[in-house]
Amino acid sequence: FVFFSSDIEISRAQSPKAVDVLAKEIGLLTDEIEIYGQTKAKVRLSLLERLKDQPDGKYVLVAGITPTPLGEGKSTVTIGLVQALTAHLDINSFACLRQPSQGPTFGVKGGAAGGGYAQVIPMEEFNLHLTGDIHAITAANNLLAAAIDARILHENTQSDKALYNRLVPVVNGVRGFSAIQLARLRRLGINKSDPGTLTEEEVSKFARLDIDPSTITWQRVVDTNDRFLRKITVGQANTEKGFIRQAQFDIAVASEIMAILALTTSLQDMKERLGKMVVANDKKGEPVTAEDLGVTGALAVLMKDAIKPTLMQTLEGTPVFVHAGPFANIAHGNSSVLADKIALKLVGETGFVVTEAGFGADIGMEKFFNIKCRASGLVPSVVVLVATVRALKMHGGGPNVRFYLMYLTISINFYLNAQNLQLVADGCCNLQKQIQIAQLFGVPVVVALNVFKTDSVAEVDLVCKIAKQSGAFDAVPCNHWSAGGRGAVKLAQAVEKAARQKNSFKYLYSLELPIVEKIRIIAQKVYGAEDIELSLAAQTQIDRYTRQGFGNLPICMAKTHLSLSHQPERKGVPTGFILPISDVRASIGAGFIYPLVGTMSTMPGLPTRPCFYDIDLDPITEQVKGLF
Ligand code: ADP
Repeated sequence: FVFFSSDIEISRAQSPKAVDVLAKEIGLLTDEIEIYGQTKAKVRLSLLERLKDQPDGKYVLVAGITPTPLGEGKSTVTIGLVQALTAHLDINSFACLRQPSQGPTFGVKGGAAGGGYAQVIPMEEFNLHLTGDIHAITAANNLLAAAIDARILHENTQSDKALYNRLVPVVNGVRGFSAIQLARLRRLGINKSDPGTLTEEEVSKFARLDIDPSTITWQRVVDTNDRFLRKITVGQANTEKGFIRQAQFDIAVASEIMAILALTTSLQDMKERLGKMVVANDKKGEPVTAEDLGVTGALAVLMKDAIKPTLMQTLEGTPVFVHAGPFANIAHGNSSVLADKIALKLVGETGFVVTEAGFGADIGMEKFFNIKCRASGLVPSVVVLVATVRALKMHGGGPNVRFYLMYLTISINFYLNAQNLQLVADGCCNLQKQIQIAQLFGVPVVVALNVFKTDSVAEVDLVCKIAKQSGAFDAVPCNHWSAGGRGAVKLAQAVEKAARQKNSFKYLYSLELPIVEKIRIIAQKVYGAEDIELSLAAQTQIDRYTRQGFGNLPICMAKTHLSLSHQPERKGVPTGFILPISDVRASIGAGFIYPLVGTMSTMPGLPTRPCFYDIDLDPITEQVKGLF
C-alpha cells in the first residue's frame, strides 16, 4: 500500500503568506482590501474604477465531462493551471472559484478547495464559512420570506385604514412616506407625497399587495442537505390565525440572491436586481416584487459586504478570488462576474483568468455562456474540458460510481482501476459530445485529462488521441494533483497557445425567441433530446411569465448533472429521450427563467454515511480533521 497525505494535511503543511503581502504582490492598494484574519481579505469594488483603462487578460473557462458523484477534478485543474501559469511559466494569472456549500462539504462530495497539491489554502477556511457570504444570502433570503407571510397575515386581519396607518406611521407628530413607499406610490400612478391626501381607493391600493398565497414562489433556504425540509407547513401556531400553507426550503446556494450575487456588476445594479425579484402574484395575476414589500434596502444592507470578492491563495502562493456559489444543476452555479472582471484587470493584457463552471459542459458551461457571459459582456478565449479515465469507464458501461460509493467493494474498485481500453474507448462518446457542445459556442477546447495513479499510460494516450480526433485543439494529461503546478505545465502551454486561436464566440439562442423555443434548443442541441414535453403547470407558468413581459430572458435549466439526459442512470450519450419539463419558475432579479426537468429537487439529502462522520476538531490544537 502507498499512503498519500490527505488534502487537509497537504494544506496544513504549507504556510500561507499573509494576505496583505499577497494583496501588495498583485498590485492592490492598502485601502482596497478589508482583511478577515490572516489569510482572507475582501476586495473593494473601487478597484474596478481605478483600473478601468487597463486592458483585460485572457478569459479561460474550466468545464467537464458528465461527472461521477465524486467530481472529476475541475476545481483541482483550475488551481493546477493557475499554479502552472504563474509559478512555473511566469505568466500573471488568477483563479476565480465559487464558495463551497456546506451541503456537499458535510454530505457526499466533500469541500471544493481542489485537492492534493492543487488547492486553495487554508482549505478549512475556504470550505467553512469563508467571509460569511452564504450566511448573508441566507439572512437576506429568509428576511424576504418572513416579509411575505407576515404581510399576508397583516393584510388579512386589518382594515385598509388600520393597515395604512401602521404602514405610514406618525413620527415626531408627522405622518410621512419612506423613500421606498414614495417609489411604490409612483409605480401605482399616485403622484402624491402627503399621506393625508390619499383617497380611500388610493389608500387601499397602496396598503394591499393582495398576494395570492397559492402563487408564492419565494422559498426559505438553509445551507444544509436537509431533505425533511423539502416540503413543510408554515403558520401552524395559533398566533398565525389559520394562515397555514405548504412551503419548502431550498439549499441556500440555490437562492435567487446567490444568482444575483454572481451576475451583478455593481452595488447599484445589485440593489435594482434585489428589488425586481418576483416572489408571487397578486389576486389579479400581476407580479409582486421585493420592492413592493419594502424590503429592497434591507436586503442590500445585508448583502453589502458579500458583494466584495474574497482574496485567498493557492498552495503555490498565487492569487485566487472566491465568490458566489456552486450547484450548476439547480442554480446557474457560476462564480461571480465581479470577481472575473476585477481579476481580468489585475492580470493585465498578457495574463490569464481561469474560472470554473459546475458539473458537465452541458450544465455549467451552457449557463456560463448563455447567462453569465450575457450579463458580463465578457468573451471567453478557451474552454478547458476536464475528463478522467474513471468517469469515461463509467460512461463506457463500467459500474456506476453511485453504486460504487454505496458498496465500496474490492472487486468493483479493482474493476474501475484495472486497465480496460475498451471501456475507456466506449466511454469517450461522452467526452466527444461535451467537446461538440463547447464547439457550439465557437470557443477552442483543450481537454485536460486529470490523471489518477491507477490510470495506465495506454489509457491516458487513448483518451488524448480520441479527444484530438473529436475536434479538441489539444488534449494533455495533467498531474497537478500529485505534482502541483509543475504537473500542469503542458496544460498551461496548450491553453496559452489555444488563447491565440481565432475565436468566434456566439450564444446558443436569441433572447427574442419564445420561452418554449429556447428550452427546446437547449434540450435538443445540448442534451441531445428528441423533444421536450411540458407539464400543465409548466405551460401555465410559461404563459403567465410571457404575459407579464418576462419572455425575453435567458434560460437556466435545473437538470441532473449525472447524465446528459434527465435520467441520472443513463450514462454515455443517451438518445431517443423526451425531456420532461415539470415546472417553470422565474428569477426576475437574477434575470432568467428557470425550468425544472423531471423530478429535480432544489434541496439535496444526506446519504447513510455522510462526510460529517470523518470531520472532527482537536480541542487542544484547534485543528480541523477529516475535510477533503
Ligand atoms: P470537481 O471540481 O470536478 O467537482 P474536484 O477538483 O473538487 O472536482 O475533485 C474532486 C475530488 O477528487 C477532490 O477530493 C480531489 O482531491 C480528488 N481528486 C481530483 N483529482 C485527483 C487525482 N488526480 N487523483 C486523486 N484524487 C483526485
